[in-house]
Amino acid sequence: MRDSLIALENVSMVFTRGWLSRERVEAVAGVSMVIPEGGIVALVGETGSGKTTLGKLVAGLYRPTGGRVRFRGQDLWALDRRSFGEYRRAVQLVHQDAFAALNPVRTVYQSLKAPLLHYRIARNEREARERAAGLLEQVGLTPPGLFLDKYPHQLSGGQRQRVLIARALTVEPRLIVADEPVSMIDVSLRLAILQLLRELNRRLGLGILYITHDLATARYLAEEGWLAVMYLGQIVEQGAFREVLGNPRHPYLQALLSAVLVPDPRAARSMRPSPLPEIDPPDPRRPPPGCRFHPRCPYAQAICRERPPALQGPADHQVACHFAQEIPSWRPPSAASPSPWA
Ligand code: SF4
Repeated sequence: MRDSLIALENVSMVFTRGWLSRERVEAVAGVSMVIPEGGIVALVGETGSGKTTLGKLVAGLYRPTGGRVRFRGQDLWALDRRSFGEYRRAVQLVHQDAFAALNPVRTVYQSLKAPLLHYRIARNEREARERAAGLLEQVGLTPPGLFLDKYPHQLSGGQRQRVLIARALTVEPRLIVADEPVSMIDVSLRLAILQLLRELNRRLGLGILYITHDLATARYLAEEGWLAVMYLGQIVEQGAFREVLGNPRHPYLQALLSAVLVPDPRAARSMRPSPLPEIDPPDPRRPPPGCRFHPRCPYAQAICRERPPALQGPADHQVACHFAQEIPSWRPPSAASPSPWA
């Protein structure tokens, strides 16, 4: 793995709700992971798994309640003001809902020029407009003159998402935290946005933390990179994308893979229903003891209800399961049919 840009060490995030009840929700529980400089990491998990909270911890929007976030080896929350400012520029968040993230009364140019002038990347209006036009070209909004003076409501969902990416690029970041960036746009346009992110990674060496519930888009973007699978606030399996999907060991990841739709009807017919005895995830306010996955796991044994499994293995493939070596590996529905994971 290349040098780490961001490293999470046993990071936890507990939210407390209610003045009287002081209800605790541990959204992230002891997560360790590395985001390499210029690498693509896909963070996959179902709704409520804590992946958005983890993204905000990486982006510095939350201060963890436990553990450390390191930026280029240094404890993020012990940085001096100047270094923290550098970090803020280096890591940019791209939201899921581009319409909500863009100010509706600002034109595209006004949205782009604010960070350009604030960080003195452009010295005056003329330079800011030139830079903004260049950024729109970079994200495929051409000719830029057509878009600079438009308001968000005059753009399509895909165009708004591109503007959001251009705004993140204004400050020349090293990492983009993209939280479900394609989930709110038309299926036909999703591929184009993913292609754009891949192209920015290749051309600018821009790191990407891609947060999603969709393994297929994760594979499209991060096949050459890394995969981390999250369940109820914890990483249950992570490593090099191809290595992990070539030999998925955790029953949760195996269940996710068996739920992916395949375009071949013969293969689809041979798919078995999900092996999970419990379909609904447990309440995150009361996570099960031991392995948090045990109420849904078809392989659970007594030890699973008592002792949490540690995330173990070499850096390119780690699994948190007491029986990772005994559980049979998952295979696509039919060896004869093309698998989305081949
Ligand atoms: Fe299943 Fe036990 Fe492994 Fe958890 S530790 S995933 S319950 S077999």
